[in-house]
Amino acid sequence: MKTWDVVIIGGGVIGLALAWRLRHSGASVLVVEKGEPWREATYAAAGMIAHCDPGTPPALQAMVAASARIYPEFVRELRAEAFQSPDLRDAGTVVFLGDDELPSCAGARLLDDAELTQLEPPIRLRGRACWLPESSVDPRKLGRALEKAARTLGVDFVTGAAVNEVAVLGRRATGVRTTKSFYAADKVVNCAGAWAGEIKPLGMPTRPVKGQIACLVPQPGAHRAGLQIQHVIRTPEVYIIPRSDGRILLGATVEEAGFDKRVDPETVRRFQEAAAQVAPVIGEMRLHDAWAGLRPASPDDLPILGATSLPGYYAATGHYRDGIMLAPVTALVMTQLLTGHKPDFDLAAFSPLRFG
Ligand SMILES: Cc1cc2nc3c(=O)[nH]c(=O)nc-3n(C[C@H](O)[C@H](O)[C@H](O)COP(=O)(O)OP(=O)(O)OC[C@H]3O[C@@H](n4cnc5c(N)ncnc54)[C@H](O)[C@@H]3O)c2cc1C
Repeated sequence: MKTWDVVIIGGGVIGLALAWRLRHSGASVLVVEKGEPWREATYAAAGMIAHCDPGTPPALQAMVAASARIYPEFVRELRAEAFQSPDLRDAGTVVFLGDDELPSCAGARLLDDAELTQLEPPIRLRGRACWLPESSVDPRKLGRALEKAARTLGVDFVTGAAVNEVAVLGRRATGVRTTKSFYAADKVVNCAGAWAGEIKPLGMPTRPVKGQIACLVPQPGAHRAGLQIQHVIRTPEVYIIPRSDGRILLGATVEEAGFDKRVDPETVRRFQEAAAQVAPVIGEMRLHDAWAGLRPASPDDLPILGATSLPGYYAATGHYRDGIMLAPVTALVMTQLLTGHKPDFDLAAFSPLRFG
C-alpha cells in the first residue's frame, strides 16, 4: 500500500501553499480535496495583503508583517515554477480614515486633496485619506498557480473525496479515511477551512463567516484606460480592488450565516452605490457577477496552527479574513514544524491545544 510523509486535508490556499513548500523540502505529499482545489474561501477572496490593517490582533502582527515581506519572493518562485502569475499589484492602498483614526503603519502617509487627485484621479470622495504600502493578488490565479506548481513538483491529489476521519492506530494518526478509501501517512494536516470541525476525531473549532463580493467590468466599448483604478481603496462602507485585466471587485460583508452562500442583490446594489460615491466612473461599470464565500474563523479570531493532542495530527486553519495574506508564512512555519525544525515564530498563541 502506498504511504505518504504527509496527507493534507483540503486544497485551499493554505493546503496548497503547504503542500508546495513541503514538497520542496523533500517530503512526499498527498492533498485530499472534497471538491476541486481552491474553489471555496480562496476562490471567493478579494486578495488584499492588508498588513497595515489596524484590526489585526496583536498576537498575529509579527506573522502578518513577515508574510507581507516574503510575498514578492513567494510569488517570484511561484511564477518561475508554475509559469503563471497571481497578479501581484503593489501600487498600494488608499484608505479613508475615521475622525479618531491615525495611520498605523510604517511608510503610510496622509494625503491632501491635491495629492489624492494626483495619486488616483477617478476618486471624488473627500476626507482623511491616507496611502498605505500594501499590495494585492488575484486569489483565483494564486490558487491555480499553487496547484500547478505543486502538481509539477510531484504532489499527489485526490479530488472529489471528502475526508470523514483521521485514522488512528496505537494512539497515533496513521492517515485519513474517505467514504471509499484509506490513505496512509506518517502525518496528517487539517487544512479544511470552514469545514475543519467536521473531521473526526478532534474537530477544529472553526466556523464559517460569510462574505459577499460584486465584480464589475467596463461597459462594452468603454475606454478602459479612463476607468482604470490603480489602488485598492477602503472606506468604511466598501472596499474596491482593481485587477490588472480591468475588473473591479467590491466587497465585502462579514456575516454569521452558517454555510449559506447565497448572494443578496440588495447588498450588491449597496456596494455599487457606495463605490460610485468614491469614484463616479465605477457607477458607469457593468455588474459582471457576484458571489459569496465562507471564511474559516476560530473562537478567538486567531489561526489554528500546530500539533494537536493526537501524535501525528496537525492543523493549519482558522485564517479568517487573512488566509490569502498569511499563506506564505503559514506554509513556511508549518513546513518547519512538520520536518522537525524550530519554526521561525513561536506558535504557542495559535496552538490547537488552546481550546482544550
Ligand atoms: C469574501 C471574502 C473576502 C476575503 N478577502 C480576503 C483578503 O482580501 N485577504 C485575505 O488575506 N483573505 C481574504 N479572505 C479570507 C481567505 O479567503 C481565507 O482566509 C482563506 O481562503 C482560507 O484558506 P483555506 O485554505 O484555509 O480555506 P478554503 O479556501 O476554504 O479551503 C479549504 C478546502 O478544504 C476543502 N475541504 C473541506 N472539508 C474537507 C474534507 N472533509 N475533506 C477534504 N477536503 C475538504 C474545501 O473543499 C476547500 O477546498 C476573504 C474571504 C472571503 C470569503
